[in-house]
Amino acid sequence: MKTLIKSNALIDGANREPIVNGCMLIEDGVIKAVGKEEDFGSLDEVKVEDLTDYYLMPGLINSHTHLSVVPGLGDQLGQLRLPGERNILRSMPNIKKDLASGVTTMRIMGEEHFIDVEIKKAIQEGLIEGPRLLVSGRGIVASNGHGAALTLSDGEEEVRKHVRENLAKGADQIKLFVTGGVSSSGKGLDFCGYTAKEVAAAVEEADRMGTYCAAHAHGGKGVDLCIQEGVRTIEHGALVTEKQVEKMIRRNMWIIGTFSILFHPEGIEKSDFSDPSIKEKVLRARETEAEVFDMVLKSGVNLALGTDSMHGQMSYEAKCLTRFGANNWKTIQAITKHAAEACQVEDLVGTLEVGKLGDFIALEENPLENIEALEKVKEVYKEGRRILK
Ligand SMILES: [Zn+2]
Repeated sequence: MKTLIKSNALIDGANREPIVNGCMLIEDGVIKAVGKEEDFGSLDEVKVEDLTDYYLMPGLINSHTHLSVVPGLGDQLGQLRLPGERNILRSMPNIKKDLASGVTTMRIMGEEHFIDVEIKKAIQEGLIEGPRLLVSGRGIVASNGHGAALTLSDGEEEVRKHVRENLAKGADQIKLFVTGGVSSSGKGLDFCGYTAKEVAAAVEEADRMGTYCAAHAHGGKGVDLCIQEGVRTIEHGALVTEKQVEKMIRRNMWIIGTFSILFHPEGIEKSDFSDPSIKEKVLRARETEAEVFDMVLKSGVNLALGTDSMHGQMSYEAKCLTRFGANNWKTIQAITKHAAEACQVEDLVGTLEVGKLGDFIALEENPLENIEALEKVKEVYKEGRRILK
């Protein structure tokens, strides 16, 4: 079945200039042609979907989130420790929110009990509706590290074993927790939980299976270790220095900004501010974030964004990046084309080009002119199929 999608304007994500009255021909979920309707020739036996009221753009990609966690409820690690059955159910409304906000692909950065692997399967099998998932399985974290929920990996042997188990269960990539974090009590953001050898062991195991390591890392020695030992994506990076960013550029690494969790009033602020150490870390990170990301943006290092469990908040995430100085085009790329590259799915999604999957969203306004247009997602299509009105 072929479908012709008509638009007011089509932002393909690869070219800055939208195609006015752009059309897309989709067959079996794959984009077969993009351009002006008159270029397509005669179109017999084609179903037409009239979206000429809307601006179309690629489906959003959330490069860093979780499934079961709701930051506003507090104690995120406690939430991860809940029984798997319960967390599968707790994930359902979150997935729904993500999808409704226009997210058609998301990278899951750590869950216990392999609930991410099972939910990914359920979505693939069509049991439930949801974004395409790229899963990490259990986070790899030291006993005294930030992110320590149930599975703890100390020493090279345990790191290797747990990375291998994750990969055997179906992890797409490996998530390490290397430095301290804002949402756990105690240790500072530049605390480093792992040795070079432990990070190297994880990278080697992932690399041998054709994938990579993503690391929760804010700054300090932990970021140095990640750069040195071959981690591919630095998650958060609230305290990265110019020197570190220069090295990341040389190694073609990525920074994944996660602003919603830090700034949104429904995030950590709503729950864990009763813990003075968390409050202090959040406030400090908020202060440094604007300066650090101004530098990050100017450096030209690879950048993508994720909401880190702030479900349905990709528009807020995007708005934060524009506040730090990115123009709308750069921001849109950080949640589409560049995000697809960060997550290594650029052959499938991220732009509306021939050969890619028909994942796209319909907006009332042009997000290139007003980034807040992302707040009102009118239609979501995944692989050419309309999944939400
Ligand atoms: Zn996270």
